[in-house]
Amino acid sequence: SNQIRVGIVGYGNLGRGTIEAIKQCPDLELVAIFTRRVPENLVLNEPNIEVLHISRAEDYQDKIDVMILCGGSATDLPDQAPYFARMFNTIDSYDTHAKIPEYFSIVDNAAKESGKTSIISVGWDPGLFSINRLMAEAILPNGENYTFWGKGLSQGHSDAIRKVEGVVGGVQYTVPIAEAVEKVKGGANPELTTAEKHRRVCYVVAEEEYDKAKIEHDIVTMPNYFADYHTEVNFISEEELKANHSQLPHGGFVIRGGQTGQNHKQIMEFSLNLESNPEFTASVLVAYARAAYRLNKEGQVGAKTVFEVAPVYLSPKSAEELRRNLL
Ligand code: NDP
Repeated sequence: SNQIRVGIVGYGNLGRGTIEAIKQCPDLELVAIFTRRVPENLVLNEPNIEVLHISRAEDYQDKIDVMILCGGSATDLPDQAPYFARMFNTIDSYDTHAKIPEYFSIVDNAAKESGKTSIISVGWDPGLFSINRLMAEAILPNGENYTFWGKGLSQGHSDAIRKVEGVVGGVQYTVPIAEAVEKVKGGANPELTTAEKHRRVCYVVAEEEYDKAKIEHDIVTMPNYFADYHTEVNFISEEELKANHSQLPHGGFVIRGGQTGQNHKQIMEFSLNLESNPEFTASVLVAYARAAYRLNKEGQVGAKTVFEVAPVYLSPKSAEELRRNLL
């Protein structure tokens, strides 16, 4: 068959989303999932998918064209990306923005040694939002970029809430502040503080009898996560948490307000409204898996970001077909 053979590393939200995304791509074939856990213990929603221990991946160098790395950015990817780049073309969704340059060079060295191609920091932010920030700035040099996130569930902030004493469970939504969004969309290019752009809304399940006022105080004063924002804390029951807050919606928008000529306002906007953040992110990863495979065939080895990958490499259609239908 001339399908592109894909492997998945890590079976979490993104790993599950990647299985779903591959199903919608007839030109891709899922070969196996690799996990650090005991493979037999993983409960998959469907049969007929091969689950193997991560140590078996090295036997698959001739059987897999691209590995999609679905590990977490904080500790998994910094280890896993260089390891896999020595054996496979890779895609990952590394999203620790401040450390991307350092991460790029580690993965680049590994991929250049092996002659493989690794596209890093793929997804929506970083990813599709990054492309839109770049385009807007290149096209409208006289202007300002704004990124708003949400309304959406932030996994990092939700984890932070769950670590507070007296908390049994909880989630946090990041919500863009409407007045700020309106000003930006109107082309006013306002100066906005962190607190003026987003607010944070928490739904928390407290231990029975535990002092709710103390929990609320501990959350809203938490440095880095909440202290700089207007934070709302709502106490709910465990049943409500399960019924109303177990999905992973997200989204946001990138807007640039610019001026050309005699002060003509030009507004560029790109937005996403996602019912499932991990399924959407995985769909982006899968499209870029085609690109990694093709770039590698052309001898373009080493690490790349979305900035270096031309759109034509993402599509299953030929360049000729794209010119006819989508240009
Ligand atoms: P998860 O925490 O669901 O999964 C991360 C890893 O943890 C998995 O690969 C898996 O590895 C392990 N794991 C998952 N569930 C369990 C469990 N029940 N018990 C033990 N281990 C488990 O993270 P997500 O998939 O939600 O996200 C991965 C990363 O994607 C995030 O860190 C985030 O940075 C990034 N991301 C990037 C986006 C972008 O736009 N660029 C958007 C969304 C996310 P193993 O199978 O080996 O145990």
